Amino acid sequence: MHQCEYPYCRHVNHETSAQCEVCSFPLDKSLLKSADYLTQQLAKLDLGPIIDFHQILRNDVHALDKQLRMMKILKVERCLLQSVPDQVQSIQGNKALAAVVAEFPEKFVLSQYVSPMAGPGR
Ligand SMILES: [Zn+2]
Repeated sequence: MHQCEYPYCRHVNHETSAQCEVCSFPLDKSLLKSADYLTQQLAKLDLGPIIDFHQILRNDVHALDKQLRMMKILKVERCLLQSVPDQVQSIQGNKALAAVVAEFPEKFVLSQYVSPMAGPGR
């Protein structure tokens, strides 16, 4: 018998298994740092078609590949890419995201960032 360590669950499990019988939180918390484990868990979900309305892409050469891979695993049909001001270096902004949308128009929609300081007379 053990208590689930997921803070929103805390179910007392009577079965000795590798994960919580209510929420599937793993008994071995180190698994949560394993990309392979997480990918396997996500692949088990039967969520149906998804439209993701808020996603960012990090400024990382692998970010788009990771995004496309996760969209395939989670069956995300379309994704709204959220842009950021040009000053933000860690996340892709308008120009980079426009290139992504141009390459995959069936998968991504761009939400461009417009500064609230921009406008007529400024
Ligand atoms: Zn649990």
